[in-house]
Formats: sequence, structure tokens, C-alpha cells
Amino acid sequence: MSGGYVGRLAPSPTGALHLGNVRTFMVAWLRARQSGGKVILRTEDLDHPKHKTGAAAQAVEDLKWLGFDWDEEYVQSERISLYAEALETLRSKGLAYPCVCSRRDVEAAQSAPHEGDQLHYSGTCRDRFSSWNDACRFLNPSPAEGVATRIPCWRFRTPDEARIAFDDGFAGAYSMDVRAQLGDFPLAREEKGAGYTLAVVVDDAAMGVTEVVRGDDLLPATPQQLLLYRALGLKEPKFFHVPLVVGPDGRRLAKRHGDTRISSFREAGIKAEEITGYLAWSLGMNPNKEPIPLSALAGIFEPAQIPHNPLEFHRLA
Ligand code: GLU
Repeated sequence: MSGGYVGRLAPSPTGALHLGNVRTFMVAWLRARQSGGKVILRTEDLDHPKHKTGAAAQAVEDLKWLGFDWDEEYVQSERISLYAEALETLRSKGLAYPCVCSRRDVEAAQSAPHEGDQLHYSGTCRDRFSSWNDACRFLNPSPAEGVATRIPCWRFRTPDEARIAFDDGFAGAYSMDVRAQLGDFPLAREEKGAGYTLAVVVDDAAMGVTEVVRGDDLLPATPQQLLLYRALGLKEPKFFHVPLVVGPDGRRLAKRHGDTRISSFREAGIKAEEITGYLAWSLGMNPNKEPIPLSALAGIFEPAQIPHNPLEFHRLA
């Protein structure tokens, strides 16, 4: 299928699969299947304090139960060497440097509020250390037994000219001056590792993803990713960011809005097609919220019908 559409589902095992993630995955799956393309399932399990044991396997099972299928499957924790290689490429081009600033240091240096919860980094460590080890020695001048060693992080040397503009397939024109908004952003928290931003870029490029479909909470992360595609000489995908599901209070769907985990609906005797039927309605198909299996939706899905406002969830039927 060379030259065809390649899409992906990229769950993070930070919690159970719920209506919010599934709605986005439906759009991703339908865009791929409607264009006769390939779907990749990628579990994004790089170290994260919020990861829950068993959540990755449960997500895969829930997706299958809902009727999703895919052509290739990957797990990020098995791909660390690829991310380390990309980091080394950036380092050898002078585009990555070690930084010893703590989150508190970075916050303290902020002059104005920035978009979302992303912090601006003023570049304190830009030309400060000759190597990773040099930065480690700075953080741990006299390492003592029983005292935890602190480690630096890698940051990207954002170019002076870093206004990134792109045309999102759903959200439309988007642009950000990455230098002014974020400055030098973090790439990894270990010497040979990768954080989310770098790993996603490396993976989407390696897997030949042609379009990234995801929640619009990641729209502000996209310009950093585009800078990395360019710095690494990788082919950029297209982007399609869809609105999230929110609770009646307008806030992103979460536990406080009740239990919307797929596994809980399933345990309560609700059928997969009732869930996909409801979500199909929310995406502008299926006006009467009839139960419909996912496989039947590829024939009627019309991306232009997806509402531009977040879906406010009250109940399934
Ligand atoms: N794994 C990320 C998440 O669950 C999504 C990453 C992406 O789609 O680029 O939020």
C-alpha cells in the first residue's frame, strides 16, 4: 500500500479507555478505513508517573471489543534505541543541550503567562555545559551514598526564526512562534531516552504515518513537533485535530463526571454498538442514536459533519 493513507491510534496507559479517547480513535480509524488505508496501534508507554498497571492491555481489549482493528502494532518502551538515535542526531548538529533547571526555576523565570500549561524557557543553560556529564557534575557536586542523584534534561535549541504555521485538516490555520511562546523545549529526561514530543515524531515518521488524528489539546504541541521533523530531515505528516469530550461543566471528561470507562459500560451490559452508535451521532452521523457497529460507519462517515465544538456528554442514550 505504498503511497496510501496511514493513520494511527496512540493510547497512553495513563488510565482506562473512556468515551473521550474512543471518540477521537473513531475519527482516526474511520479516516484511515474510508481511504482504504492502514491503521497502526501504538501504545505510548514511555515512563510516566500516571501510568497504571494493566491499562495498556485493557485498552487493547476494549478497542477490539468496540470493533477496532489494525494492521500493525508497536509499543514505545520497546523502541527507546530509536529515540536515543534521534537525540544523538540532534546533539551532533548542536540542536540539543543539557539543562539543569528545575521546573521551579523555569516557572520563576517566566515573565508572562503562556498558552496552555506549557512553560517558556528562557535558555539559561543554552551554552552552559560542554557535555551531559558536565551538567550531571554540576547537579551532583559531591555525590554521597544514599542521596538521590539529580539528572539534567535535554532541550531543543529552538531557532530564532521559529514561527510555525500549518493548515490543520479539521481545526484550520494554526500558527505559533515557538521561540517566543516556548523557547527551548524539553526533549528527554534521561541521557539516552525521549519524552513524548520526540518519540511521537520519530515514530510517526518511521511508521510512515500520513495523517495524525488526535485531540485538539495537542494542537499547541504540534509546532514543536514540526520543528523536530525539520531538524531531523523527516517527512511531515498532515494533522487533523478534533475537539475533546467535556462534561456538563464544560471541563474535559474526567472521573468527576461519572464513570465513562468502556470496561464499565461493558460490565453494565451495554453493547459495543450502543457506544459506537452514540459516538457516531456525536460526530454528525446517525441522527437517532441507533446502535451501529463501527464497521458499518466507514460507509457513512463524513468528516465535514463533525461539530467544531467539544461534545458535552450527559448520558449514552
Ligand atoms: N498518547 C497521546 C495521548 O494519549 C497521544 C499522542 C498523539 O496522538 O500524538 O494523549
